[in-house]
Amino acid sequence: MTKNFRNIPSVNSVLESEKIQSLLKMYSTELVTELIRKHLNQIRKDISEKDSKINADEIIEFISKTINERWDEWPKNILNGTGVILHTNIGRAPLSYNAIQAGIRAANGYTNLEIDLSTGKRGSRQSKVQNLLCDLTGAESAIIVNNNATAVTLGLAAISKGKEIIISRSESVEIGGGFRIPDVLEQSGASLKEVGTTNKTYAQDFKNAISPNTGAIMSIHASNFKIIGFTSTPSTKELSKITQNHNIPLLHDVGSGCLLDSSQFGLTKEPMPQESIADGSDICFFSADKLLGGPQAGIILGKKQYIDKISQHPLARAYRIDKINLATLHATLLHYIKNEALEKIPIWQMIASTEENLKERAEKFKIQFPSLIEIIPTISTIGGGSLPGSQLDSFGIKINSNNASKLADKLRNNKDSILGRIEKDTFIIDLRTIPYDQDDLLANALKEL
Ligand SMILES: *Cc1c(COP(=O)(O)O)cnc(C)c1O
Repeated sequence: MTKNFRNIPSVNSVLESEKIQSLLKMYSTELVTELIRKHLNQIRKDISEKDSKINADEIIEFISKTINERWDEWPKNILNGTGVILHTNIGRAPLSYNAIQAGIRAANGYTNLEIDLSTGKRGSRQSKVQNLLCDLTGAESAIIVNNNATAVTLGLAAISKGKEIIISRSESVEIGGGFRIPDVLEQSGASLKEVGTTNKTYAQDFKNAISPNTGAIMSIHASNFKIIGFTSTPSTKELSKITQNHNIPLLHDVGSGCLLDSSQFGLTKEPMPQESIADGSDICFFSADKLLGGPQAGIILGKKQYIDKISQHPLARAYRIDKINLATLHATLLHYIKNEALEKIPIWQMIASTEENLKERAEKFKIQFPSLIEIIPTISTIGGGSLPGSQLDSFGIKINSNNASKLADKLRNNKDSILGRIEKDTFIIDLRTIPYDQDDLLANALKEL
């Protein structure tokens, strides 16, 4: 049996085709040629394994499409109609206008990143953000690293290497993406001593477990799950009494870095870093891109003696935060200093949007697209490993169609990519997670349906 090899064009004839010629205007000839060669080899291999009818035009079409997709601009903006405010897959917290401007300043030319302009001497890239964090939380000192996973790893390595860390059995958990507390402890050179049971741990359990080899007590916020019913965990205050008596540090991973009281919006109260510090934790860890509403970063707050020790650890240099994230974090924290977080930080604008306001926006869509959509009440969630089980009543639009998943594909691949939810075979867009100034973009996409 003869196979279809003769339909495979040569590298040169592919290069000369109109489609590929237009790619050559944009991209390196050498790299395009190399990709063509790779694809043709692959096609040859495929045909030798399974004879398939494929002609030269189809091959050229396929190659130009894959090259275009491989090298197109990235990232693409998304209209988030999922109702999930913090979604790791779409970049967690969107930044405020001021934070974006700060990021541009940091990227554009040189800056006073690590230089004191009044003296001309070398300074620390940490100090400006450190000041804001200490002012906002009452902590003595702070250090900023790449994310909370690194923050915890670094903190444990610097404070408790070779020692035992006591953790409640209910908090020895996986935080997400394979970040497991027991594994992190092991990597940091500390060892884990679990106390209590899955549902109940008492202050006395921690007390009884303390030995000369204890390096710290650690508590970890259950940020992505909830144990309900017959449960008990000692408070930060209770734990800090024990650690003070034994002269060991109390470490607290609060997860989300929520600086505002989330209960004012009907959500479960998320632990707040300033409360953790006030209640006696010696070191407090959290993310900057969850309920803080800033860039990816990990923040370690606490007593100066411990933060100094952490800053001097060799891993601190390896985990150093980059200048653009640091600048956007500074601008985000300034919103809290100016008491304007609710108005200026996108995730807090979303959380604080009222049902009336969201319904009004839905009604405007209904007027514009009377037969295409229906107004429906929806439920938004925080997501991103924050406030599990906590929900916000919201409003959205339901788009009429006879095939919701096809519609979802179409909107996802729209010029302004739109994500929504499919519930009971209908496609829903929750308006809470779409900033109101993007309603026009959404309307433009709906016009095309
Ligand atoms: C999310 C989370 C982390 C990990 O934070 P990243 O910034 O994503 O690395 C660690 N601990 C807790 C409790 C969390 O909720």
